Amino acid sequence: MEKVVIIGTGCAGLTAALYTARANLSPLVLTGLQPGGLLTTTSIVENYPGFPEGVDGYELMVRMQKQAEKFGARVKFATVEGVDFSQKPLALTVDGERVEAETVIIASGAGHRRLGIESEAKLEKKGVTFCATCDGALPMFRQNPLVVVGGGDTACEEATYLTRFASVVYLVHRRDTLRASKIMAERTLSNPKIKPIWDSIVTEVLEVKEDKVTAVRLQNVKTKAETVLDCAGVFVAIGHVPNTQIFKGVIDMDENGYILPKRGTETNVPGVFVAGDCADHIYRQAITAAGQGCAAAIDAERFLSAKNQ
Ligand code: NAP
Repeated sequence: MEKVVIIGTGCAGLTAALYTARANLSPLVLTGLQPGGLLTTTSIVENYPGFPEGVDGYELMVRMQKQAEKFGARVKFATVEGVDFSQKPLALTVDGERVEAETVIIASGAGHRRLGIESEAKLEKKGVTFCATCDGALPMFRQNPLVVVGGGDTACEEATYLTRFASVVYLVHRRDTLRASKIMAERTLSNPKIKPIWDSIVTEVLEVKEDKVTAVRLQNVKTKAETVLDCAGVFVAIGHVPNTQIFKGVIDMDENGYILPKRGTETNVPGVFVAGDCADHIYRQAITAAGQGCAAAIDAERFLSAKNQ
């Protein structure tokens, strides 16, 4: 039986791995489908302390994994398909196999929310993207009109960032006021290269037949009028969805699926702890996730010590 199983290898999971490994708990760390988590899709990370020149997101995660492995963490490319936390030992189904554990740290992160239209899926990575910092500088977007969808802080940040490359950035929002914080909204709307398009949704990304983005079809939600807006890229920034589906009905979560810790990193199930974006819709930073991963590891270690005394 495993002493600690960690689900996820983003900043939270790998920091938890480092701490539990250094506590001689030899954690089993399961990557999920995106080893290294969302940060591996970022280019340069400039706000992770200790890297005054910035650090490549992928490289940072590789380094974190190496550091955890150096102390005995066992990182496995595997996906958790289900859990049974109704009795002890805690049980997980990992790629069809049963794994038993005394403690589990959930650090499964979050993914980008999608518009959910067929053309978005078909043109993903062909002009439809979810990360301006990852993809904004690509030649296909330079000096071209770009569309950002969303009205929150992320959409405003993405739109502002993209003004470095685009000829114009259209900010398409389904209402007529931004959800973003006041300062961010003001900064965005006063940028001469950003043109808001209010009360509108993207109903189709064109042109699937050409296998690239040439325009979006918009619908005004008030008048129902349809328009086609030429653009070379669509940046979808409509929030995140925590990767917590497999814990539904087992681990307490809010109506959006974010896990609700009880005290510190403890969940409602004794021995199960949580860290990072799957429980955090407020800060969502690499450094806060890493901090929570550290806390979850310490909590798991104390839980095991108390149990074994
Ligand atoms: P968010 O605040 O949840 O905003 C999501 C936006 O997308 C909203 O404007 C929402 O419209 C829109 N939206 C949601 N589903 C949609 C759909 N299916 N079709 C079209 N539009 C849709 O998400 P976020 O901007 O990613 O921010 C998440 C959290 O991180 C927030 O607390 C934010 O303050 C924080 N954050 C902070 C910073 C910063 O301070 N630098 C930067 C980024 C994020 P409605 O407004 O109509 O609901």
